Amino acid sequence: MRTVFQTRTGTVEAVNGISFSISKGETVAIVGESGSGKSVSALSILRLLESSGRVSSGKVLFNDLNLTEMKDEEIRKIRGKDIAMIFQDPMTCLDPVYTIGNQIIETIKIHEDLSKKEYLERAVELLRLVGLPDAENRIHSYPHQLSGGQRQRVMIAIALACRPNLIIADEPTTALDVTVQAQIMELLKELQSKLGTAIFLVTHDLGVVAEMADRVVVVYAGQVVEQSSVIDLFEKPEHPYTEALMKSIPRIETDRTKRLQTIKGNVPSLKELPSGCRFHPRCPFATEKCRSEEPPLFNVGENRISKCWLLDPESKVEMTLPSATV
Ligand code: SF4
Ligand code: MG
Repeated sequence: MRTVFQTRTGTVEAVNGISFSISKGETVAIVGESGSGKSVSALSILRLLESSGRVSSGKVLFNDLNLTEMKDEEIRKIRGKDIAMIFQDPMTCLDPVYTIGNQIIETIKIHEDLSKKEYLERAVELLRLVGLPDAENRIHSYPHQLSGGQRQRVMIAIALACRPNLIIADEPTTALDVTVQAQIMELLKELQSKLGTAIFLVTHDLGVVAEMADRVVVVYAGQVVEQSSVIDLFEKPEHPYTEALMKSIPRIETDRTKRLQTIKGNVPSLKELPSGCRFHPRCPFATEKCRSEEPPLFNVGENRISKCWLLDPESKVEMTLPSATV
């Protein structure tokens, strides 16, 4: 997938060559630092980009449907019905002037025609499903009367209201404290196993990836740098960026007062991308070749790819030869 934004100074490419597929019941996580193109990828899937942005090429396959090729009206029908989104901050998505019951019912109404009583029952049922205590009474609450964790549960209830096949969750727990975070993740996993929903999870946190995902797409500066099963990734990260991200995961057993190792430098601006490998200014292994030539995605195992010259199977024999264009 390639997503570009029109700006006053020209076209900026936010996502370049991100392609992946998700199947029923699977959790695929997209991980990277902020500014790496994760959210843009998620929004691109549902065509929710601001008007200056558009997906110019690429593929997102869901159940063999290529979501990036659908017409606008087709995707509109799918949004909220087959695919739902959960965002980081529920307060920006919940309407403060309506009760949460009203908001859940509005979502059910888009796709189903029921009686007033049936709508109410469905809404209470959904709130019970997401573990909101005292659902019959809470349904009449306004968003500000709930805690952050409860509001996120309501968002999940709204997302589930149409029994979607795929939920796209963009940093769904980032605004919550650690305990509530764990509860919400647990809830998503539980609902997934009950309902068979696929989850596309956007996160900057490899700890969350380890907990939740089956497969992972690591992105850097708008490109995929590694794609792998979670098990293989944690056993051995192949890309220097993945390795650096792993070193920055907080571990419970280490002293929390110790500062975490962070990756030096910043994600480059999309307007001034480095030459060659986009990670080279921050990579401890960078060579001359890395600075001048962009590495392709190498196959490095079963269903595993990584975009780094260190993984070039030809590199030993080709060291002194000019490398083939890819
Ligand atoms: Fe580092 Fe070079 Fe690999 Fe890029 S291609 S990640 S700079 S070693
Ligand atoms: Mg984001």
